[in-house]
Amino acid sequence: MISVLPVGALGANCIIVASDATKEAVVVDPGADDQAIHQEVARRGLKVTAIINTHGHIDHIGGDAALKARYGCPLMIHKDDARMLTDAGANLSFFTGEPYEGPTADRLLTDGDEVPVGDLVLKALHTPGHTRGGICLLVLEAAEVAAGDLPRPLALLSGDTLFAGSVGRSDFPGGSHTTLIRSIKEKLLPLPDDLDVIPGHGPETTIGDERATNPYLD
Ligand SMILES: [Zn+2]
Ligand SMILES: [Zn+2]
Repeated sequence: MISVLPVGALGANCIIVASDATKEAVVVDPGADDQAIHQEVARRGLKVTAIINTHGHIDHIGGDAALKARYGCPLMIHKDDARMLTDAGANLSFFTGEPYEGPTADRLLTDGDEVPVGDLVLKALHTPGHTRGGICLLVLEAAEVAAGDLPRPLALLSGDTLFAGSVGRSDFPGGSHTTLIRSIKEKLLPLPDDLDVIPGHGPETTIGDERATNPYLD
């Protein structure tokens, strides 16, 4: 139900979260290679109902325009990164020699917002520090959310906030290392040890592994 496709020159992980029950899907961080992303969507017979950007850097948003045009679905990003979608300087594409200014967001997310996808829910956790409006996404079962129990998350998509053995850079505009570490400690480390974490770049990890071994989180 979760496909991970490294895309573009920086190998950003584009993540397709799909409901096996309804075949509805959300595309998270289509940074580039929209054709390859669509091939995976088509191969699995999915209907894309939303695009979500974990933050506004070019390696995570570069395919927004092509995929939004193809699927006609809403584009979502945290409100504090919304401006980066349409500003080639702020999204850093200006510095690659290929300035990119894409479509505006259709829905601005804030901490705790939920995006339904079939029998799943993606819940936004605002984790500023890499950018002001960076978010992580918890993948939850809709039935557990509706029951009001403390849901057991299926996965965490951590964007450029937390990586296996590392954390996101904070030297770009809007970044703050202190804020980033606080976001991780307050929002991510309380999650279950065995929770699978799919970062915005590189290999998967778990919350427990990062709590135990990540040198930035002492
Ligand atoms: Zn980034
Ligand atoms: Zn990135």
